[in-house]
Amino acid sequence: MVGKKPDRKPFGRDGPPKGYPKDQAVYADPENWRYPLHTSWHAKAARRYFDESSNRNKYTPEEQAYIDGRINQALEKIGKAGPSTKVRRPPPKVPSRRAEELTLEQMLRLFLGAARFQRAKEIDDSLVSVSESRADHIGGKVKDYVIEIDLQKRTILHNCEDWRKNLDSKNMCKHLGKFLLTLDEKAATDLLREVLANLNNWTFMEPNAAA
Ligand SMILES: [Zn+2]
Repeated sequence: MVGKKPDRKPFGRDGPPKGYPKDQAVYADPENWRYPLHTSWHAKAARRYFDESSNRNKYTPEEQAYIDGRINQALEKIGKAGPSTKVRRPPPKVPSRRAEELTLEQMLRLFLGAARFQRAKEIDDSLVSVSESRADHIGGKVKDYVIEIDLQKRTILHNCEDWRKNLDSKNMCKHLGKFLLTLDEKAATDLLREVLANLNNWTFMEPNAAA
């Protein structure tokens, strides 16, 4: 590997960001837990962030060469694996029927599709925790994944791979499905009705922890 592995920095992390791999070897800057490379999305994001001079300049030229080398290696691996053959999911179709008339299950099927909805129901209850459930903010976890729903800003934040791939089309993953099934049924129904009725105003996002 070219360059020099960066030392521990004042801006470094003490461990992986929430929901990120616990293996230092998947970070371009391992000592500081920066620039995760575990998915193609993250490798590309790492390239983007590290190309910004405000981020690059935190490192010596030798350290920059090391991080560049690690990111390029990850990107090269992705290139060899070829483009993903997965079919993109179309956005959930808002039914002609008014959202107020749909049941929770009907709406979950719209956002998840039948197969994911089934997988959502199969997730064990013990893997789900709701840490906060207020009128404007609902938060919790499914397995190691975080879920934050902000009804005021109209954002849903989550961090699994399936979610990430379908952010733009505003589809949901099995974790979101299970989480919504765990909430109070009326709260979950009201929430999904609101999302469905104002789909264009809602943002599906993931935590920005690449840099
Ligand atoms: Zn998920």
